[in-house]
Amino acid sequence: MAFLIRIELVNEEPVLIPKSRQRGNHFPGLDYIPGSVIRGALAGKLAASGQEDLIKDVLGHGSLISNFYGHGNLPIPSTVLRCKRYVVNKKHSVLNMADTDDKQYLCEICDAPLVSCEGYFNFLSAKPVYKKNNAQMRLVTHNRISSETGTSSGKDDDRGGANLYSAEVIERGQEFVGYLSWKDRGLRDELLDALRAFKGKPFMLGKMKGRGYGKTEVCAMDYIDDTTVGAEILRSCRLEPDKIKTFTFLQDTLFLDKFLQSTSIPDSNDVHDVSPAENGSWFNYRTIQGFNMKRGVIHPAETVATGGSTFFSEEEITPDKIKLIEEDGVGARRCEGFGVAVCGLAEAIKVEEVDWDVK
Ligand SMILES: [Zn+2]
Repeated sequence: MAFLIRIELVNEEPVLIPKSRQRGNHFPGLDYIPGSVIRGALAGKLAASGQEDLIKDVLGHGSLISNFYGHGNLPIPSTVLRCKRYVVNKKHSVLNMADTDDKQYLCEICDAPLVSCEGYFNFLSAKPVYKKNNAQMRLVTHNRISSETGTSSGKDDDRGGANLYSAEVIERGQEFVGYLSWKDRGLRDELLDALRAFKGKPFMLGKMKGRGYGKTEVCAMDYIDDTTVGAEILRSCRLEPDKIKTFTFLQDTLFLDKFLQSTSIPDSNDVHDVSPAENGSWFNYRTIQGFNMKRGVIHPAETVATGGSTFFSEEEITPDKIKLIEEDGVGARRCEGFGVAVCGLAEAIKVEEVDWDVK
């Protein structure tokens, strides 16, 4: 059975996490911290403190590091649509397709077709609110300094002397919450010890560290037993936790429909009586690319349900079935690390504050 550690970070200096390639003299930035960035920072920190042997346990197979989002925020599921006028006037509709049989997908106020909705829910507020941005962002402008002359003359600049560039950074003082999860519970104490070493020491993230950006600190850490990340998601969907069983993917998961086409929606055979569309499931999907090194061929692009996606069931799930799902995984391509999942009742979750000072 997997376990989770919940981590809160606060950035003491602005952080730049590039969203895409630089566009001209502009670096667009993300408003969250991807799990892969945390993974790299952890590896660097462990290597720098001479704990190379731990890197395999911390970051190896069976480990998952979630994206770190602003406190209380989760990305809106890809099943949610909104009216294009919603941003200006909150009376216009937001609709979760997973909650409704309405096939029209039209705004109740103006009848406009609903469009997909990128942004966040704040699940700590009484009513989940659509928010476009997660963390506070700031645009900063810099002078590119020539390494040859030490000035901004731009002589050795390969972009033809364009010296000013701007970057979209996450403002200082932003709090982020994310989860680290492992399959092997035997690693618990070792991992908590390794993570304690981060307390009170700066944790550098993102690009432009040399410019004094990226200083982040771990400010709180909790251990979560008998886990499912579904608890916070359950609250965000306003479901009654004691009636619902959650089923949460810890890794991206690939399903096939009856025509063997890839899909992000599990077949009921895969998930043993869990019927996602009827119960307000919470999921995102993305397209993955693959490469077979042995044969030197590219796999076709496939649709996967992303790690963190959660499905709910009001059916009875026996302990034997739960064990089967957790041990064998779900979906296709399990041997490649897809389809790791945990089942759990929200009420079973026990959060333990981690004592920083234990040696
Ligand atoms: Zn409307």
